[in-house]
Amino acid sequence: EEDRELIAGEDEGDADAGSGKQVGVIAVVGRPNVGKSTLVNRILGRRAAVVEDTPGVTRDRVSYDAEWAGTDFKLVDTGGWEADVEGIASAIASQAQVAVRLADAVIFVVDGQIGMTDTDERIVNMLRAAGKPVTLAVNKVDDAQSEYLTAEFWKLGLGEPYGISAMHGRGVGELLDAALDSLKSADRTSGFLTPSHLRRVALVGRPNVGKSSLLNQLAHEERSVVNDLAGTTRDPVDEIISMDGQDWLFIDTAGIKRRQHKLSGAEYYSSLRTQAAIERAELALVLFDASQPIADQDLKVMSQAVDAGRAIVLVFNKWDLMDEFSRQRLERLWATEFNRVTWAERVNLSAKTGWHTNRLSRAMQTALESWDKRIPTGKLNAFLGRIQAAHPHPLRGGKQPRILFATQASTRPPRFVIFATGFLEHGYRRYLERQLREEFGFEGSPVQISVKVRE
Ligand code: GDP
Ligand code: GDP
Repeated sequence: EEDRELIAGEDEGDADAGSGKQVGVIAVVGRPNVGKSTLVNRILGRRAAVVEDTPGVTRDRVSYDAEWAGTDFKLVDTGGWEADVEGIASAIASQAQVAVRLADAVIFVVDGQIGMTDTDERIVNMLRAAGKPVTLAVNKVDDAQSEYLTAEFWKLGLGEPYGISAMHGRGVGELLDAALDSLKSADRTSGFLTPSHLRRVALVGRPNVGKSSLLNQLAHEERSVVNDLAGTTRDPVDEIISMDGQDWLFIDTAGIKRRQHKLSGAEYYSSLRTQAAIERAELALVLFDASQPIADQDLKVMSQAVDAGRAIVLVFNKWDLMDEFSRQRLERLWATEFNRVTWAERVNLSAKTGWHTNRLSRAMQTALESWDKRIPTGKLNAFLGRIQAAHPHPLRGGKQPRILFATQASTRPPRFVIFATGFLEHGYRRYLERQLREEFGFEGSPVQISVKVRE
C-alpha cells in the first residue's frame, strides 16, 4: 500500500477555492530538523517543494491545499524556519501555538534516529492543552529493520507512533490515513475557527495612512505570539487577529510591517502587493488619512478593492488630528469622490489612540454578511415585478424594455443576471441597484448586475 501516489495540491494560487469539500486543516509541528519540511513537500508534491527550496523567498501563504486518497484538506507548514539557539524554546512554543490555532488536527513529527528529547515532551504538553487530535509521526525510520525506533515514543501518550520515512515516502500513507481519521472524528464545533473558516482581510491604503499603526493597535497581545516567529528567515506573512472574540486572518501583514513601499521607486511593487493581498482577501479595509487631502493613490487603492468585488469597510484614520477645516473638506469629498461606494460603511477612528477601533468588527461582519447573501429567486422576481410596475423603464424608440426574469447567479459578491426584452439604460440599472439595496441591504458589499437581452 506504500506505493499509493501522493497527489500534489491542485491549487497553487488562492486558497479560497470555496468548494467547501475540505475536511479540515492539519498542521505539521515538531522541533527543527526532524523532517517537517521534507514531509510537507512529500505530501504536496514537487511544485511546492520548488517554492520552499528557494532561499529568501517569502512564502505567500501559510497553508496549502492537499489531497490524499480522494480527501481534500489543508496542510499548514510550520517548518522552514531557523530558530536562533537561545530563542529556541520560545520559538518552538510560539510555533506550536500558532499551528494549534490554525489547525483542526496536528501531525507531530519526532526524529526516530535521535530519540525522544525534552523539547518533544514540552511540545506534547502544549498540544495536549490545546485539545486537538494529534497523530504521532516518528520520522527517519527508513526501513523495516528500524521500526523498533518507534517503540519508545509510546511513552508520549499520544497513541500509536507511526514509523515513517518522509525522505523515501515509507509509511506516509498510513500516517495520512490516521491523521485524516482523527480529523473526521475531531469535534470541529468546539475550539476556535480554523483558517478554512477564518474570514480573510486585506488592510490596504497608500503609504503613511496608518496601516501599520492600526495593525499594532488591533493586535494587542496577540502580536507577541507572532513576534517570536518574525525574526526567522521566513516571516509568517499572515496573522490571526482577534476582535471582539472573533478571529480574522489578516493577509500579508509582513508586507505592511516591512514597509518596503516607503523606499523610493517601490510604488509599483507596493501596488502589486496590494493587489495580491486584495485578491486573497474576502474583505478589504481601505484606510485613508482623514487629516490630509484625499490623493489619487487613495482612490486607486479603493478602486482596486471595489473592482475585485471584495466586501469593503472604509476607514478614516487619524481622527485625533481632525479640526473643523479638515472635517468639512472630507465631507465635500465624501459627496463627490466616494459616490461610487456610498454603500460601504465608513468608520472614523484613530489608530494612534485606539478611539473607535472597536467599531471595526461590526462593520466587517455586516459587510461580509452582505457579501455572502443570497436572495431566493421567487423573492427577487416578486420584488422586480413590484418596482417595475411602480417605475417602468423609459420608452426607447417607441419600445419599452421589460424585465422578464432575474436570478442571483452567485454570491461573494452578489451577482444578478436580469433577462430583459431590450437594453436597459445605465440610469435604470442604477435605479435597480438602489432599489435592490434598499429592499435587501447589501451594506458593505458591491453588487453586480448584468443584463441579457432576449428578443
Ligand atoms: P525540519 O526542520 O523539521 O523541516 O526538517 P527538514 O525537512 O529540513 O529535514 C531535516 C534533515 O533531516 C534534512 O537533512 C533531511 O534530509 C533529513 N530527513 C528528513 N526526512 C528524513 C528521513 O525520512 N530519513 C532520513 N534519514 N533523513 C531525513
Ligand atoms: P503605513 O505606512 O500606512 O503603515 O502608516 P504608519 O502606520 O507607518 O503611519 C504613518 C504615520 O502616521 C506614523 O508616523 C504614525 O505614527 C502616524 N499615525 C498613524 N495612525 C495615526 C493616528 O490615528 N493619529 C495620528 N495622529 N497619527 C497616526
